Amino acid sequence: MSERNIIAIHDLRSPATGAGIPEIPTLPAGTELSPGLLSDSLGRTLHDLRISVTDRCNFRCSYCMPKEVFDKDYRFLPQTALLSFEEMLRIARIFVACGVRKIRLTGGEPLLRRHLEHLVAMLADLRTPDGDPLDLTLTTNGSLLARKAAALRQAGLRRVTVSLDAMDDRIFRAMNDVDFPVADVLAGIDAAVAAGLGPVKVNMVVKRGTNENEIVPMARHFRERHGGQVVLRFIEYMDVGATNGWRMDQVLPSAEVRARLHAAFPLVPLDAAQPGETAERWAYADGRGEVGFISSVTQAFCGDCNRARLSTEGQLYLCLFAERGHDLRALLRGAHPSGRPWSDAEIAAAIGLIWQRRDDRYSQLRASRPAETDTPESGGRRRIEMSYIGG
Ligand code: SAM
Ligand code: SF4
Ligand code: SF4
Repeated sequence: MSERNIIAIHDLRSPATGAGIPEIPTLPAGTELSPGLLSDSLGRTLHDLRISVTDRCNFRCSYCMPKEVFDKDYRFLPQTALLSFEEMLRIARIFVACGVRKIRLTGGEPLLRRHLEHLVAMLADLRTPDGDPLDLTLTTNGSLLARKAAALRQAGLRRVTVSLDAMDDRIFRAMNDVDFPVADVLAGIDAAVAAGLGPVKVNMVVKRGTNENEIVPMARHFRERHGGQVVLRFIEYMDVGATNGWRMDQVLPSAEVRARLHAAFPLVPLDAAQPGETAERWAYADGRGEVGFISSVTQAFCGDCNRARLSTEGQLYLCLFAERGHDLRALLRGAHPSGRPWSDAEIAAAIGLIWQRRDDRYSQLRASRPAETDTPESGGRRRIEMSYIGG
């Protein structure tokens, strides 16, 4: 059903070992990890860390992993390239010392990573310098959630975000492009609510001409079935990655989505819950819960973007649209020139230097840069894929 305008992938993964790592000051043995807040060059404080636990997925959403590119010949990362749970825990602990208070597990499809609940349990034990647990959450396509929700909750997961683009089974099967039924994702959402992972956020990417008629049915379903337990959020289709053949005319601006929703179910604005929040929040005027609008294309929110992203092979990215990462795995697995392993304090110092230099604000600049120069074919920018870096 969806029109195909696919662009072949340029492999930007696995740069040379140590790429993007600044010169690290040698710290005396035994230097403690000292907690501190990090501000980037635009005054944005590091707060969120998104960890991608796999680059694989059982869906082939055309806006993310088009089948024509991610086919049977596509080379996913080898097992040895992936960070182990112990490596992820170590890096997470260091990031917490650098100011991170929220961790989101993502992918690819995170629930495909075996024993993910073990990683959840390890991360759930981390504490901030004030002794508080982290805000630990996960984004999933929901396909395996019915089976795993209770175990994830028991392991210490606090909340979950489920991606779902349509209530109509035919449209949903076409959008995930592997003929996966919507009923199974809805069962996953029910299981997450029942397990206490609420309020569950449901993210719907709205693509003009593809699922725009699903806006009101999606809202109706979650209002009636779950009320305040599920928060539906509408995401503008983004030009992330370089394979989905994105075009501006396929973006349905949030303002239009909101107007259509308001006509069916009147809305009233809410205040932002916390700084750096991506969604603009609105409540149903009749009190039956709230919805959110993530307007990454028409209303950039780079101004308070406090998110760092760690790929499944340990590359640190400072923006969803970044062209290159910083190879933290080289620090985790490599050694100081003297032959000893890098200490946590030294890795924290490297992260500090990287974050302090950050000046990314792609979405803010998008408007002033013609989209066609962004494809590799036109010699423009090259960008990392969403399924690799995580959403
Ligand atoms: N597989 C999981 C899932 O789908 O929830 C986690 C990873 S997925 C890359 C994270 C989020 O990115 C999903 O909510 C998905 O809808 C969103 N996403 C992927 N490509 C996108 C695009 N081109 N524009 C907007 N959102 C996109
Ligand atoms: Fe997979 Fe999520 Fe990308 Fe869809 S959006 S292909 S479910 S990683
Ligand atoms: Fe953050 Fe980059 Fe998105 Fe701007 S474009 S909000 S800097 S991830």
